[in-house]
Amino acid sequence: MTAIVKMHKLNKHFGSLHVLKDIELEVAQGEVVVIIGASGSGKSTLIRCVNGLEEFQDGNIEVDGHSLIPHGKSHRALKAIRTEVGMVFQQFNLFPHMSVRDNVSLAPIKVRGTSRPAAEQQADTLLERVNILEQADKYPGQLSGGQQQRVAIARSLAMEPRLMLFDEPTSALDPEMIGEVLDVMRKLAREGMTMMIVTHEMSFAREVADRVVFIHQGSIVEEGTPEQVFDTPQHPRTQSFLARVL
Ligand code: ADP
Ligand code: MG
Repeated sequence: MTAIVKMHKLNKHFGSLHVLKDIELEVAQGEVVVIIGASGSGKSTLIRCVNGLEEFQDGNIEVDGHSLIPHGKSHRALKAIRTEVGMVFQQFNLFPHMSVRDNVSLAPIKVRGTSRPAAEQQADTLLERVNILEQADKYPGQLSGGQQQRVAIARSLAMEPRLMLFDEPTSALDPEMIGEVLDVMRKLAREGMTMMIVTHEMSFAREVADRVVFIHQGSIVEEGTPEQVFDTPQHPRTQSFLARVL
């Protein structure tokens, strides 16, 4: 299997706070890796390092053959990585003054030089994929949270990413809207998208993950199949975390 992401001896500090400690993690093409752990354990920082939203001080990260080195000194790699990696956050970050269709077609037009008609057609195809084509002419503020998050996913997909990062994509949603977003992510997983997902939705994690990674105070203390991690956790930290959240 080809690894799309390779993290080696990754260390990250925020001032005196050692947030990521000697992280070793590879993600294979088509693999779905779910990262779990307590609040403040470093999950967001870890996936933000993958697309260069955070610098790190030691180690290296290779993303689809592009190498990120410490202190953010990898401008060319960063540029390539940002066009190949999609990211969806807890907050949807849609452009409020643009229609849903324009939100989705903007990056292909600006970054790729795709013609407007072609980009809009692609946007409509993607909006259909996330079950929201009927809202294409509306503005984000007219949509529910679950609808906005599905638009955010479509917007990421418009750049035809090789890898998708999700950081608690359903944590800001009302409970009745969580399912529709998880459905879209399930579909992506089935279609073979490589994904790194931070989530507190443990039954979703069990269902969709090829591998579950448990992080505690900046270290990966356990990883394995969902069955291994959820049913027979080996590390006491994993056991006590799961006892709290399951
Ligand atoms: P998680 O996503 O698992 O909740 P984070 O990666 O957000 O954890 O944070 C890990 C640790 O780093 C926490 O102690 C947090 O307070 C700290 N941290 C996160 N972002 C920053 C920042 N920009 N500056 C300083 N400390 C930060
Ligand atoms: Mg976080």
